[in-house]
Amino acid sequence: MSSETFRESWSDLSGRLIVVSGPSGSGKTSLVRQYLARPDARARLSISATTRQPRVGEEYGREYFFEKRVDFEAARDRGEFLEWAEVHGNLYGTPADSVRSMLERGDCVILEIDVQGALQCLERFPSAELVFVNTSTFSVLEDRLRSRSTEDEPTIQVRLNNARREIALSEKYHHHLINENLDRAVDDLASLLSRFGCGGPVRDA
Ligand code: 5GP
Repeated sequence: MSSETFRESWSDLSGRLIVVSGPSGSGKTSLVRQYLARPDARARLSISATTRQPRVGEEYGREYFFEKRVDFEAARDRGEFLEWAEVHGNLYGTPADSVRSMLERGDCVILEIDVQGALQCLERFPSAELVFVNTSTFSVLEDRLRSRSTEDEPTIQVRLNNARREIALSEKYHHHLINENLDRAVDDLASLLSRFGCGGPVRDA
């Protein structure tokens, strides 16, 4: 489906699309998950498809739909993704149908995706709110990536280079959050989302 077709066929959906990005080490995943665990959160998380291998403790359908590359590419070629991108050598995509049904119901939907995907979303769904999460300085980011110790040095270097590229594009985002203290950042995200009508009691699925 072209961006124009998306724009037309998604234009009357009543929900809000919130796109959260940030470099590796910005803590955006913990931030979003911690926000969603709050009793006042009224938003749903879109689960992406990826060709990356599951990490220890990750489950199919909870963190990601882990797919073979050939299956991901077939789904992409059938136009099943709202957006997709290659990140750190793996493919990632947002399943369009599930996001569309949540938006149809009037839900607030959070996508936690990279910058390339976020900009595609904005083109296809111009009322999307783009939120960029970062640390106060690049060296905080670097320290976090190294202390995680889940990645080897070449992988860390790839992630740092991608981080520089992502930060350079962050000026295209509508909102910027600094995540130095997770609790404070969760509060900041909550108040931002309540401005978009994504606060209040959780609705039944
Ligand atoms: P990780 O593999 O570490 O969970 O994620 C790597 C990067 O891929 C992160 O920046 C994450 O936000 C991004 N990502 C996750 N899902 C998607 C998606 O559906 N689309 C795009 N474009 N990026 C994604």
